[in-house]
This record gives sequence, structure tokens and C-alpha cells, in this order.
Amino acid sequence: ASGSTLLRDPRYNKGLAFTEIERDAHYLRGLLPPAVYNQDLQEKRVMHNLRQYEVPLHRYTALMDLQVAIKVFLTPEFPYLQERNERLFYKLLIDNVEELLPVVYTPTVGEACQKYGSIYKRPQGLYISLKEKGKILEVLKNWPEKTVQVIVVTDGERILGLGDLGCQGMGIPVGKLSLYTALGGVRPSSCLPITIDVGTNNEKLLNDEFYIGLKQKRATGKEYEELLEEFMSAVKKNYGEKVLVQFEDFANHNAFTLLEKYSSSHLVFNDDIQGTASVVLAGVIASLKLIGGTLADHTFLFLGAGEAGTGIAELIALEISKRTKAPVEETRKKIWLVDSKGLIVSSRLESLQHFKKPWAHEHEPVKTLVDAVKAIKPTVLIGTSGVGKTFTKDVVEAMASFNEKPLIFALSNPTSQSECTAEEAYTWSKGRAIFASGSPFDPVEYEGKVFVPGQGNNAYIFPGLGLGLIMSGAIRVRDEMLLAASEALAAQVSEENYDKGLIYPPFTNIRKISASIAANVAAKAYELGLASHLPRPKDLLKYAESCMYSPGYRSYR
Ligand code: NAP
Ligand code: MN
Repeated sequence: ASGSTLLRDPRYNKGLAFTEIERDAHYLRGLLPPAVYNQDLQEKRVMHNLRQYEVPLHRYTALMDLQVAIKVFLTPEFPYLQERNERLFYKLLIDNVEELLPVVYTPTVGEACQKYGSIYKRPQGLYISLKEKGKILEVLKNWPEKTVQVIVVTDGERILGLGDLGCQGMGIPVGKLSLYTALGGVRPSSCLPITIDVGTNNEKLLNDEFYIGLKQKRATGKEYEELLEEFMSAVKKNYGEKVLVQFEDFANHNAFTLLEKYSSSHLVFNDDIQGTASVVLAGVIASLKLIGGTLADHTFLFLGAGEAGTGIAELIALEISKRTKAPVEETRKKIWLVDSKGLIVSSRLESLQHFKKPWAHEHEPVKTLVDAVKAIKPTVLIGTSGVGKTFTKDVVEAMASFNEKPLIFALSNPTSQSECTAEEAYTWSKGRAIFASGSPFDPVEYEGKVFVPGQGNNAYIFPGLGLGLIMSGAIRVRDEMLLAASEALAAQVSEENYDKGLIYPPFTNIRKISASIAANVAAKAYELGLASHLPRPKDLLKYAESCMYSPGYRSYR
């Protein structure tokens, strides 16, 4: 290939890291300035440039520029080299995961989606709208990569806790898949981000002349179902049985139905329901070392009974059932949920959505969260309502009044929607709360002691889970695999982490964590007879590590 082609192809481009020998062999002489960098120096330089941006959204666009059209060398000296460099992008993410996760993911990705229309420069991922009805298989064939292993798809109706962002939700599948690669080692070329556009009910977008999506109200009912059915069967036809389809940020009135409908015919996974459940369960299991007791000894109260809330609740009930051999109908009784109408109780059964019905226990009606806390006396409080500032001083003080170490999860994203801040949790509980949140918070100093809040970030689970499914050639996802993922994650928390009050391991080790989750998930897939990659590798952990994409440059000689 000619030198300029190499520079333009993101998969091959190394920019200034082309060696002297490569420059001679591939007609690159003169196309690059004389300096030869190694990848570490390039990385150092990009990080230096990124850190110049103080506004998080600017960091986001700079980073996406790197993924899509690299500006590593877009400095006053070398403005002509605007090529993409995929490997450098992923190296950056891997080596600086704690710093960059909040950029490609919550909270900054949320802001990026809100402003997608105006920051939009070039298409990323695949858009399938109502206009493509009847032609979805052809649309899939337009995607340049033929071997796809993971699809993350959204219809944009419930982006983070920000609501309906329609077609602008694309930032989410793009961001999630970059984490599949960086954290889980899935090859970038095997990742396909998709946004299904059936319209939006967001008036602001409908009236925005720069909106990039269909300007109509959301299709519902039969029209919606048919488009999704066509999509799901086209995916299976084009990529086969083993492609993983991750549903992301669908509204709950579709999410549960889609998951249920396709889980018996496709390899599907809903991160909002199942991934959240698995990561929170891991945190709860790990926290037992700090708060004491067995899982079955605890009482759980949720604010929010949607995808996240009921998903977590069910997985906790399943894990207790697995540990105690009690039927799940019994173990659910220690778990209570509050929705927008108050505590979910049996007298409300008739009017409840189907996914809430298993949680309608015998109790008199309770309207507010603080009263529910006082009535149920939970040891664990979990916020998944999407509404910020709902764990008020009253609520946290009530938790601290009957718990030595109240366990509090404020999971709503992004940061503005968090139920309370880390600082509030620690101060209102007088330093006794064990706290984890959905969006990151900085460490807090309270009365001379430093508390490090944990982040119950789904990014702990889905990349490793996905890798485990892919490497075993699994054809279905089962709850047992989610439990296996949770247990693997909980086992990664070290004594040193516990000493700081942490119930999640640091993200810096995430590749190792993902490999161990993948191994545990794959083991379960083999055990359940759902793995198609035979024979089973002897050492699944080693095998997982060997499967992981690594972003170091290859030599072209
Ligand atoms: P969802 O399915 O729409 O559920 C929201 C639930 O909250 C519903 O049950 C709703 O009640 C309830 N609710 C809304 N306003 C309320 C209020 N003022 N008081 C009490 N309950 C209220 O949403 P979801 O998918 O579960 O996501 C919820 C939040 O969790 C989002 O902010 C999301 O970002 C976050 N989340 C975090 C993580 C993580 O940190 N790892 C993972 C997933 C999701 P009704 O049913 O009565 O309407
Ligand atoms: Mn999500």
C-alpha cells in the first residue's frame, strides 16, 4: 500500500511511530516529519493535550476525534496529519481508564448525547430508522466489517437518567463498545454500535432545526414491534447465532418485553436490567465483609422500581436462594421497592406493571421514602429512580439510626441525578455509611478520615461478561451467568480495598478483572451446555487473557 493509504487507515496508522525501516519500506518518507515517537510518547502527548481541556465535553470531543479522525499531531506544527489511529485511542483508554471513563461514559457521555446535534461531525455506528423498514438486512450489509461479535443497540428513549434523546442516543452504544474493547479486549472491528430511530417524544428535539433524527413522535405498538422483529431476525441472519446483542437505554415499557421475547432465540443481554443487577450484587456481596452477616440476613429497600431496581432485586433474590436453597418466592420477601406512588404493597397488585408484581408484599400503604425506611428498617438502601437529591438528610439519618454501617447505593446517573452525594452520605451518617454510586465522586474527608466512595459502574461487568460469552461461543445468556460474573467481581476486592471502605476493586486492574469475570461466565456456559466453542479450553482464565485485543502497534516489515 502507498504511504498515504497507510496513514489514512485507522487500523494501520501509527503516525509518528512508524519506524525508519517502515518509512522506507512503505513509501512514507517525506510524509512524516523526521521525529520517530514510540507509542508511549504518543500517549503521553495526547494525554497532555487532553488535559488542557477544562470543559469535560471538550475532552469528549477531542477523544472522539482521536477515535474517528485522530488529531494527535494536530498541533500548529503538523496540521496536515489528521488521520485516525485506532490503536492509540484504545491504548489511551486502557492506560488511563480512571481518568477517561467519566469522559467516554457517564457523566460526560450524557452531555454529549444532549448536544449531539451540534457537536455531530461525522457518523459513528449504524442508524436504522423507520425509513429502513423492509431493508434492514441490506442496511446491515452496508456496515464495512463482516465479522461482528457484539452489537450494542439503543432506541434512545431513556438515555442514562436524561430521558428521551431520540437519535442522539448514539453516543451510548459508541461509548459502551469502546469499553468492550478497552476493558474487555473485544476487537474493535467486531463491535457494532446501532441506534434504532422510531421518532422521539422530546419536544425540544422535534423543534430543533439541527436535530439529526426522524422528526416525528415515537412509533409504538405493532409498528415498533415489527421494526424490532425485523431488526432481530436480520441480525441473526447476517451474523449468526453467536452475535451478542446488548440492549441499552430502552424505556422500561419496551425493555422487559424485548428481553423476555428474544432471550430464548438470541444471545441477548440488557445492561440496564442485568448488567446493573450483576454489578450491584457484586458490591453487596463484597460489602458483607464490612457490614457483617450473610446475604440472607439483610433487608433491602429500593427507591425506583424500574429496569435497574427490579433487575437488581431479582438477582439478589436469586443469589440468596442459591446460597440458602430457599425458593426465590421466599427470598424476595426481604426485598422492598418504592416507586413514584410509594411502597409497593399487595393492595396495589392489580394496578402494577408486570415486572413489579413479584415485589408486592403484605404491608399497609406507605407514601414517602423516609416513612418506608422507618417502617421497613432496611440494612441496604438502593436508589434507582433517576431522580436526584432523594436521599435527603432525614433518609440517611434514619438509615444510620438503626444500622451500625448502613449500606447506601446512589445509582442514578448522571451526577446531577444522584440520590445524594458521597459527602452527604458520609456526613449525614457521621462517617458510618458504606457508599457507592453510579457516577463517580471524589474521595471525601470527614473528621480527619478519608473515605473513598465506590462506583457501582456497569463497566465492571459487561465487558468481561461479553468476553466470556464470545470466547465460549455461548448461544444464550442465563441468570446463572450473571451470578457467576458478580461472584468473580466481588472476589477481586482486596483487603487493602476494604480498609479504605471500598466494595469495588480499583478500575486500574480492570483488564485482569474482566478476564476473571469472562472465565467464570464461560465456565458457567460450558456447565449449562450453552457453549459452542468446543472442546472447552482447560484453563479458562489463561484462555480469556489470550483472547484479549491489545493495542500495541504491530510491526510492518
Ligand atoms: P426506569 O425503568 O425508568 O425506572 C425508574 C423507576 O423510578 C420507576 O419505578 C419510577 O416509578 C421510579 N421513580 C421515578 N421518579 C420517582 C420518584 N420521584 N420517587 C420514587 N420513584 C420514582 O429507569 P431505570 O432504567 O431503572 O434507571 C433508573 C436510574 O438508574 C437512571 O438514572 C439510570 O442512569 C440509573 N442506572 C444506574 C446504573 C449504575 O449506576 N450502574 C445502572 C443502570 C441504571 P414509576 O414506576 O412509578 O414510574
Ligand atoms: Mn444504560
